[in-house]
Amino acid sequence: MNAGPAPHRDPAAAPDWTRVRADFPLLERQVHGKPLIYFDSANTGQKPASVIAATDAFYRHHNANVSRAVHTLGTEATDAYEGARRKLARFLNVRADELVLCSGTTFAINLVAYSWALPRLGPGDVILVSRMEHHANIVPWQLVAQRTGASVRVAEILPDGSLDLPGLYAAMTADVKLLAVTHVSNVLGTVNPVRDICREARKRGIVTVVDGSQAVPHRPVDVAAIGCDFYALTGHKMCGPTGTGALWARREHLQAMPPFIGGGEMIKEVSFDGTVFNDPPHKFEAGTPNIAGFIGLGAAVDFLESVGMARIEARETELLAHATEELGKIEGLRIFGTAPEKAAVISFLIEGAHAHDLATLLDLEGVAIRSGQHCAHPLLQFFGVAATCRASLAFYNTHAEIEAFVAALKKARRLLA
Ligand code: PMP
Repeated sequence: MNAGPAPHRDPAAAPDWTRVRADFPLLERQVHGKPLIYFDSANTGQKPASVIAATDAFYRHHNANVSRAVHTLGTEATDAYEGARRKLARFLNVRADELVLCSGTTFAINLVAYSWALPRLGPGDVILVSRMEHHANIVPWQLVAQRTGASVRVAEILPDGSLDLPGLYAAMTADVKLLAVTHVSNVLGTVNPVRDICREARKRGIVTVVDGSQAVPHRPVDVAAIGCDFYALTGHKMCGPTGTGALWARREHLQAMPPFIGGGEMIKEVSFDGTVFNDPPHKFEAGTPNIAGFIGLGAAVDFLESVGMARIEARETELLAHATEELGKIEGLRIFGTAPEKAAVISFLIEGAHAHDLATLLDLEGVAIRSGQHCAHPLLQFFGVAATCRASLAFYNTHAEIEAFVAALKKARRLLA
């Protein structure tokens, strides 16, 4: 199947970051007459031309539904969709038949909540979640707790934004049935030692759910090596289309879990006397999926692999160091999250300036950052602030953009002073 032009790079050579950036058509545009500086990749990532071309090629040449029709288009669509699953599985070092394709992390975590947790938890059981979780890894557990009589316990963080690990391990008491923790914080950038955490949880018989939304786009992730029970991710932050994502789960869980959503494709046989469900992962994929989106996600995996995840991590570490140093020179600027291991996400405030005002003034300079609570109210409550600005970088950003961003920020600060 023609999935559009794939970027070709020499895997041994250091990437030419100017050329890598040129693969992203949107980064060419202007905003308010200024070159766009896109520092909101933790919110959603930009898409390379090969991903856009792959989705376009599907609709132009192969569009048909999957797993249903025997005609040529139907076979092509199914092969491409299943091919994307295999690519993503290889990328994460997991088995393709343990990878449920879904609309994103939010759906993935809700699937665990409704299908694994709801039938198993009861009064007296505890769901342990960290203070730094995104609402997508808090609210589903609160809903489960309300319906089962279980309770939600919070694992606290330290002032630098790292997890209080001794506190976390002490909170893993016998009544804890499930631990939900993010791999990388979308607000602080903290990289959590999920491998150690999952090993400790496993020793105590606690099932682990890791939110990989902010990890998979930015560093090599070997899900099998982490040793978790469930790993959730979202495609739109990793150069893929919106409405794509996945849940990896251990096979024994997928086999034991009842389906979450019922409908076509997730069954083997239906009669009014009862229904025989399909095997996992299809048991959890009722209805017509986002076929073009997943084909685009497959192209995103090809793209990320062609650049190299280790190189992406190194590039973003370098950009983070530069941005942190430059921001440190701005008087009255406070950075939230200074953990030793940190991804390229910088939350900050400038004394006397409201986060939304700063973000609005930066937009006038062509700089896109996010301001607000970043779907993490409990985390902001910890720091005692109502909102922060967040600059989140990706490998396609440049050192020159960091300098322009800092200059724009200084200008905004003067205007608001
Ligand atoms: N978890 C984290 C850490 C996130 O950053 C996000 C997206 N901001 C989500 C979950 C939710 O992802 P989605 O909206 O794609 O389901």
